[in-house]
Amino acid sequence: MKRYISIFTVIGLLSCQATKTPPSSTATSTQSAKQMPVTLAEQEEEEIPVYHAAETILTDLIHTKLEVSFNWNNSTMNGKATLTAKPHFYPSDSLILDAKGMDIYEVVLNGKKLAYQYDSSFLRIQLDRTYTNKEKYTLSIQYLAKPEERKIGGSAAITSDKGLYFINPKGEDKNQMPQIWTQGETEASSVWFPTIDAPNVKTTQEIYITIDEKYNSLSNGKFMGSTKNANGTKTDHWKQDLPHAPYLFMMAVGEFKIVKDAYIRPDGTKMEVNYYVEPEWEPYAKAIFGETPNMIAYFSKLLGVDYAWDKYNQIVVRDYVSGAMENTGAVIFGDYAYKNNRELLDDNDQSTIAHELFHHWFGDLVTCESWSNLPLNESFANYSQYLWDEYRFGIDEADYQAEGEAEGYYQSAKAQGYHELIWFDYESREQMFDGHSYNKGGRILHVLRNYLGDEAFFKGLQNYLTTNKFKAAEFHQLRLAFEEVSGQDLNWFFNQYFLKAGHPVLEVSQEVSENELILNFKQTQDLSLSPIYRIPLKLAIYDGRGVTFKNINIDQKDQSLRIPIQGKLENVIVDYQQSFFGKMSEEKPQEQYIHQFYHGTRYRARRDALLFGTKISNAASNELILDALKDPFWHIRMLAIEKAVRLSNEQRTAAYALIKEMAAKDPKSVVRNAAVNFISPKLEKDESMALNEMLIQKDSSYLVVSSALKQLAKIDFEKAMVHAKNLENEKSSKMALGIAQLYGNYGKKEQMSFFEKIIPSSRLQGFDQLTVVSSMTYYLSKQDIEEIEKGLTLYQYLKEEGNNYTKMFIPQSCNYIVQSIDSKIRNLEEEVLKDEKTNPQYAAQNRKLIDRYKIIQEGYKRIQ
Ligand SMILES: [Zn+2]
Repeated sequence: MKRYISIFTVIGLLSCQATKTPPSSTATSTQSAKQMPVTLAEQEEEEIPVYHAAETILTDLIHTKLEVSFNWNNSTMNGKATLTAKPHFYPSDSLILDAKGMDIYEVVLNGKKLAYQYDSSFLRIQLDRTYTNKEKYTLSIQYLAKPEERKIGGSAAITSDKGLYFINPKGEDKNQMPQIWTQGETEASSVWFPTIDAPNVKTTQEIYITIDEKYNSLSNGKFMGSTKNANGTKTDHWKQDLPHAPYLFMMAVGEFKIVKDAYIRPDGTKMEVNYYVEPEWEPYAKAIFGETPNMIAYFSKLLGVDYAWDKYNQIVVRDYVSGAMENTGAVIFGDYAYKNNRELLDDNDQSTIAHELFHHWFGDLVTCESWSNLPLNESFANYSQYLWDEYRFGIDEADYQAEGEAEGYYQSAKAQGYHELIWFDYESREQMFDGHSYNKGGRILHVLRNYLGDEAFFKGLQNYLTTNKFKAAEFHQLRLAFEEVSGQDLNWFFNQYFLKAGHPVLEVSQEVSENELILNFKQTQDLSLSPIYRIPLKLAIYDGRGVTFKNINIDQKDQSLRIPIQGKLENVIVDYQQSFFGKMSEEKPQEQYIHQFYHGTRYRARRDALLFGTKISNAASNELILDALKDPFWHIRMLAIEKAVRLSNEQRTAAYALIKEMAAKDPKSVVRNAAVNFISPKLEKDESMALNEMLIQKDSSYLVVSSALKQLAKIDFEKAMVHAKNLENEKSSKMALGIAQLYGNYGKKEQMSFFEKIIPSSRLQGFDQLTVVSSMTYYLSKQDIEEIEKGLTLYQYLKEEGNNYTKMFIPQSCNYIVQSIDSKIRNLEEEVLKDEKTNPQYAAQNRKLIDRYKIIQEGYKRIQ
C-alpha cells in the first residue's frame, strides 16, 4: 500500500489534531479470541500482550469461491462463499472464520446445514465430523455484507476499514460515476466475505460478480467470461489459480473504460496490462500508466524472478481511502492519479506505480507472516521507488528522492515515536503503516545493497523470493537468504537495523598534519534507544596523488582513523557512495567543500558542497554558485537560485540574468517555478510583467503558470485577475488549485463565483479538493457577509459529497470561519457603541448586520 500521510502537511493553514492515530482496533483481544474461542470472555479481560505473534494456523484455506450481487440502494452485498479447507495439522471438527458485521443465513456442507455460532466478528462452524489434515472439505455460506454498519476504524495510511465501498450508489451526485470497490488491508476483507483474515493465510480464488450490463467489473486473476442473465444483468467470472492472502482480494464495479496495454513475457507470450479509468480520462490513461510494461520487464530482470501472476491491471477509483493498494493483479489508485498531459509534466505517479508493482513480489508472492513483519512488504515497495528512479531518471534523481524518504522517517519518528523496524509490541496493527516500515526500511535495504554489492544483494532477493514464494515469511528468512548467498553472518546487520530502534548519528571531524590525516568519528545517538552501530563506509581521499578509496568500518562510540596523505589534502568524502543512513555532521574547511562540488559524484556530496561551501562569500564560493546554476541535476540548480542573493554585484547581475533565462527555459518545471518566484520581485516592473505574462500564456506547466499569476498579481492585480478568469475553465485540477490559492490570497467579491463553480464539480482530484477548500476558507475569512453566506452552501455540499480528506478537515475549516465571523461581529459591536448616539440609524443597520452574521455563524457551527 502507498500511504498519503503528507496530507497532514498540506494544510498547515488550518492546522489541527488530525494526525492523531485513530483509536486502536480490538486486534489484540480478537486474535486471542480466535485461537481460544471457549475462553473468549476471560481473554478479553487480559492486559494487552506485548508480543504480537503471527496468527496460529488451525485451518488451511485452499480455495475461496465467491458469488456476489449488490443492493445499490442500501449499500449491501448478497454473497455466497464456497470454501475448501482442511485442518492444518491437528485433527479438527470446527472451522473458525472472520466475518465482520454480516447477516449469516446458512452454512451447508454436502447438502446438510451445519450448526454455527456468530457474534458479528467470528463465525464458528461445527463441522459434521472430525477431519484430519489429509481430508479436505468444502462448505458454503450464504450471507449479507453490510459495510455501512461498520464503525469507522483505520489509520493514517488507510482512512477507513469498511472493506467494501459504495460510491454515489444511488447516482444522486450527477458529477460522480457510481462505483463499488474494496479495500482489504489490513483485515477488512472479512467485511465482504467470510475468511481467515490474516496475512499468513493463502488461498486460490474465483469470483462471480452479478451486475447490470452497463457496468464493467475487475477482480484478481483471469477474466473467464461473462454470462447474460434473463433479468438484464450479467455475471462476470474471475479466477486466480495461484494462492494469495485474503487482504489482497479485490473487486471493483462501475462504468469504467478499459484501456488495453500489454507486457511481453520472457517466453514471448503476451500478458494483459489494462488501465480502468472513467470515460473522460480514457485519452490520458496511457500517459499516466504507460510505463507499467517497462517496469514489469525491469523488475523481473533485476530480481531474476518473472512476474508471477496472470495479468496486471490498474484502476482509479473515487473517494479512495488510501494512496494505492497492491491487490494481486488488480491495483487500486485514488483519483489523484488522474492527470492530463500538462499536469504530468509537473508531477507523475511512477513512484506509486512502481511501489504497487514491486509488491507483486514482496507482499503478494512472499507475504509478511504478521503485521509486525510488515517491512517485508513495505520496505521493499518503498525501495522499488529508488530502483525505478535510478533506472528511469538517473542516479541523482534516485539519491535526491532517497534523502526525502529518509527525512520522512525522521519526521514520522519524531512525531509518533521510535520503535524497532520489526515491531512486536505495537498497540494497533495500523500503527505499522508508518515512516519506519516504509521509509526507514527502504533506506536500510539500500545500506545492505551497498554493503553486499549489487550482485549478492539481488541474488539474495532472488533466493528469498524463490524459497518463500506463495508462502508467508518473517524477517529471519530474509536474513537467511542473504547469508546463504553471501556466505556472511548478517545477524549484526539485522540486529542493529531491524530489531533496534533509532538510527546512527555520526559526527566527523579531521586533524591534518604534514603527511597524515586523522579522521575522528563519534556516534552520538541516544544509546538508551539505539545501539552503537557498525557502519561500513567507502572513503574518498583527495590529495597530491589524486583520489584514493578506502573501505572502513565504524563500530565504536569514539573512533579515530589515521590515513597517510601525500601533498596537500584537498578533501575527504566520508560516504562516497551515499549509502549511509542516519544523520551525519562533518567539520571541514570551506575549501574542501568547494573541491567536493567539482569532484563529488553523488547528489548529496554536491548538495552539501553547495550548502556548506557557500556560507562564507569569496571568489571560489561565488564561482561555485554560478556553476551550480548550470548543474545537470535540477535540484542543485534549484538550490543555487536561492544562493544567488549572496553574490557580489557583478556576479549577481550575471546570475540574475541567468535565473531570468531559467524561468523561461529550464527543462524542469519546478526549476522554472523557483526561478520565476525568485526573480520576478527583483526585476523592473515592466520586465517582470512581461516575463510573467509570457509564462502565463506560453509555459506548459500549471505550476509555473500559477506562480506567474501570483507574481503578476503583486504588480498588477487587475491584469492577473483577467488572466486567472481565462484559466478558470482549464480542465485541470492543478490549475484550479493555483487559481484558488491566488484568490485565497488576493481575491475580491467577484472571485466567489469561481469557488461556487469548482467545488461541486468533479474536477478536483485527490488532495486538491482539500487544498482548494482551505484556500476558499482563507478567502471567505476576508470577505463580506454575502460571500460568507454563499460559502455556507458550499460547506453544506462538502459535508455530504466532499471526499474523505476534505471531510476530515471540514470542522477545522468551519471553525476558522466561525472565528473570523466572531471578529467581524466584535468590530461591528464597537461601531454600534460609537454610533448609537451620534448616528442611531447607522447603528441600527449594523445591529441588523450583526444578527444576520450570527445566523450564518450558527449555520457554520452546525456543519462542525
Ligand atoms: Zn505499499
